[in-house]
Amino acid sequence: MLNREQTAKKLRDDYDYYGSWGVVAARYGLTKALIYRTALRGYEPKKPRIREVLEMSALVPTPACVKCGDVHTLGDICPTETPVRIIVQKPPRPRHPRLAIRLDDPASAARSIRRHMTGDHIKALLLELSNSL
Ligand SMILES: [Zn+2]
Repeated sequence: MLNREQTAKKLRDDYDYYGSWGVVAARYGLTKALIYRTALRGYEPKKPRIREVLEMSALVPTPACVKCGDVHTLGDICPTETPVRIIVQKPPRPRHPRLAIRLDDPASAARSIRRHMTGDHIKALLLELSNSL
């Protein structure tokens, strides 16, 4: 597939070879005016059949940007648009549960522990303590 510039160059090369816009046009089965405008005046053929004959890619209707009226291609950001910065917030690191107990008051420490630990954990704690005594 050729873009507009490549097509214009190809037609000018054809003209250099054949020496006549009429002959170039006849070879493609197109009008001399269309060939001439495409080769030298920056014209871009729109009709699918003509584009096919000239080996140009088909034109596809594309909606214009509602903000600026231009057509933005993929990866092209509208100049009226502020680029969006995506901030990925990390989830908070899981913390080990902590418990403040009063070291100078064993009864208070026991109440705090009972409030926060299951029976099995308390038994395991008692076993640990008795083993280290
Ligand atoms: Zn735009």
